[in-house]
Amino acid sequence: MTISHRPGLNVAGVMQYACRHCGDCWSGCNVGAKNTVGITYIADAVDHGATVLCESRAQSISKTESGWEVVVQNLSKASESRRIEAPIVVLAAGTLGTTELLLRAQQRGLKLSARLGKKFSANGDDLVIASDLGEPVNAIATGFPSQGPRGAAPVGPHSMALIDLGDEHGPVWVHDGTMLTVMAALAPLKALLQLNVRGALRHLKGGIYSDEMSRTQILYIVAHDDASGQMRLQNDRVMVDWPGYSDAPERVRAEQKVKTLIERMGGKFKVNPFTMAAFGGNRIIAHPLGGCAMGETVEDGVVGPDGRVFDPTKGPKGVHDGLYVCDGAAVPSAIGSAPS
Ligand code: SF4
Repeated sequence: MTISHRPGLNVAGVMQYACRHCGDCWSGCNVGAKNTVGITYIADAVDHGATVLCESRAQSISKTESGWEVVVQNLSKASESRRIEAPIVVLAAGTLGTTELLLRAQQRGLKLSARLGKKFSANGDDLVIASDLGEPVNAIATGFPSQGPRGAAPVGPHSMALIDLGDEHGPVWVHDGTMLTVMAALAPLKALLQLNVRGALRHLKGGIYSDEMSRTQILYIVAHDDASGQMRLQNDRVMVDWPGYSDAPERVRAEQKVKTLIERMGGKFKVNPFTMAAFGGNRIIAHPLGGCAMGETVEDGVVGPDGRVFDPTKGPKGVHDGLYVCDGAAVPSAIGSAPS
């Protein structure tokens, strides 16, 4: 786990405190115990002379005569922006951010592969809920200082164990998850939407740390998919289109395996509330991949094997000088395990 279990300086020289087992890791860390890019790679880059622009968002990139221009928006003063010129630009804004920047550049005339935005993969991810388990698992986050019941066993960090349910049809990994308080608080509403008034009242009365909720656990699934999602710009922001993901055979198969596992433990399988139309009707995934998929040529990829961005005006393997993608956007398929 990339979490500090005793206080001290990390490899980048940044102080990290010990994990307090509050279970809030999904939304960030309450005490700075969890490693983040900001306190590892970026801190190290600053030590090596890099300048970091805080409260800023890279808005666009465009080609200049000598290299690239990046327009950076000041997020504390929306009207202000800054132009940075550089001979080399490495895009590492995450799968969604990197693809968004290249889609905008393409819209403004930069020649890029026709594969841009394609091959979006959810890495076979999904989130399901096991309820009514035989024993308490205490997997509802407590915050720090703890708001949980006195004397209750600590929740512990999120995703500390893996169960391998893979077989000859493909990988299926199950990670244990902790539930954020905001999600646990949706339990009465979810019961109401399912016309379960008695259940809603029970949840309201018992609160998020009731005996019933202590027997409830989020499970994350990581499996496979066919990377057939598509990203596009809508009102200048990236959107993912993948209406078929819920019914994708690999996802359904993985879900069935986890359902069987939960029922064998005496629990009840439940879909996560966010798949209900009232909560947005979406799946929850942790590892978005693709959009700038790697390929051998501009016909089958947006970047080459070394992350250089293809330029279709220069032939099948020609690239834009000085433009690179270096993050999950370049991954051309589900990996079948957590990408890191
Ligand atoms: S459980 Fe997670 S959020 Fe809480 S202190 Fe540990 S790493 Fe941070």
